[in-house]
Amino acid sequence: MKSDLLLSRAKEIKPWIIQKRREIHRHPELMYEEFVTSKLVQDTLKELNIPFQKDIAITGVVGTIGNGNGPCVALRADMDALPIHEETDIEFKSQIDGKMHACGHDCHTAMLLGAARILKENEGNIEGTIKLIFQPAEEGGAGGKMMRDEGVLKNPDVEQIFGLHVNGQLPTGMLASRDGTLLAAAGSLKIIVKGNGGHAAAPHNTRDPVITGSKIVVELQTIISRELNPLESGVISVTMINGGDAWNVIPSKLEIQGTIRSLTLEGLNILQKRVKEISEAIAIANRCEAEVTFPGHDYPPTVNSSTCWNLGKSVGKDILGDDKVIDMPPIMGGEDFAFYTQEIPGCFAFLGVSNSEINATYDVHHPMFKVDEEALPLGTAIHVNCALESLERLR
Ligand SMILES: [Zn+2]
Ligand SMILES: [Zn+2]
Repeated sequence: MKSDLLLSRAKEIKPWIIQKRREIHRHPELMYEEFVTSKLVQDTLKELNIPFQKDIAITGVVGTIGNGNGPCVALRADMDALPIHEETDIEFKSQIDGKMHACGHDCHTAMLLGAARILKENEGNIEGTIKLIFQPAEEGGAGGKMMRDEGVLKNPDVEQIFGLHVNGQLPTGMLASRDGTLLAAAGSLKIIVKGNGGHAAAPHNTRDPVITGSKIVVELQTIISRELNPLESGVISVTMINGGDAWNVIPSKLEIQGTIRSLTLEGLNILQKRVKEISEAIAIANRCEAEVTFPGHDYPPTVNSSTCWNLGKSVGKDILGDDKVIDMPPIMGGEDFAFYTQEIPGCFAFLGVSNSEINATYDVHHPMFKVDEEALPLGTAIHVNCALESLERLR
C-alpha cells in the first residue's frame, strides 16, 4: 500500500485504535487469564468480518485475511499484563489493583487490531493469507510456544512473521531492531539452601543457610567475570532472597531466586550447569545442602532473519522517514516471539513511545510506564505494510 495513503488511513482510525487500547488498559489480565481481552479481540474481528479461531493456548485468537491464493505471513501481538500496581496519573489507568499493562501489550493488541481493520478494507488486493496472531502469556508463560505447538504457524504454513514491541526509551516515531540476535535466551533460577536452624546465640549448634546462601550469591558472580569469555554476553542476577522469621533465630532454610541470560541457548545451558555445580559444592563445604532448579520456561534468543529486518527497515523508512529507523545492539531482555523465529524467519522490532512533553519517559515494567499514543497508528501502518510487502516479495 502506498505509504502516504496508508499513514493517513491509520491516522484517521487513530481514535478507534486508542479506544481499544484504553479499554484493554483498564482491565489488565495476567498470563493465560486474558479472557476479557480475548473477547474484545474476538468481538472486534467479528465486527470487521474477519474469520478467526479462538481458544488456542487457552485465550489465543488467530484471525485470517486474504484469498488463500499465495503465500502466508503472520503478524503477532501479545495480550497479557504484569503483576504491577499502576502509579501513573492517566485517566484510563488500571482498574485492577496490582495488575497493569506495564509492558505495553495493550498497545500491541490495539495496533494489530488497527492493522486488521486496514488490511480487511484492502482485502481485494491481497494475494495470499495474512494471519493475525493474538497470543497469551508472553511474560514468563511461554504463550508463544504454546501457540506454536498448537499449530498457528501451520495450515496454511506461515513463511514469515513480524512483531512489534513498544519501547519507553525510544522517542515516538522511531523504529529499532537488528539483523541476527536481538534479544537473549533467558530463564529463571531457584536455589533452596537447607541447613539446620537454632538459637542465634549458639551458631555452633546450627548449620547456617544464611551464611551459606550469601557465599553462593557472591560466588555466582565469578561465573560471568572469570569463566565467561569477555567477548561473550551473559547475566546472572540474584533478585530475591527469602529466609528467616526472627532476628535471634538462625533459620533452617534460605530461598534464592534470580535470572540467567545469554545470547545463545547453549550459553544459557552452560551458565545453568555452573550455577548448579557451584551452589551444590558451596553448600556441601558449609555442611548444608543446595537444591538448584530452573523453574518455568527457558526462552530461546530472539533471532531476526536479515531478509525480514531489511524488509522491516524499508517499510519503516517509508512510513517514518529515513532517519527514524536505526540498527541497535542486542539487549539481554527475553521475549517469547523467539519461539516463532525458532521455526520460521521473522523480525521483531521496537517502536518508540517515549515523549518527555507528556511525561512518557519511563521504561516498560515500571509502575509509571506511560505511552505516547501518537505512536499507535504508526505501529498499525508498519504492521500493514510489513505483511503486504512480505507477501509481495514471497510471491
Ligand atoms: Zn515485559
Ligand atoms: Zn513485553
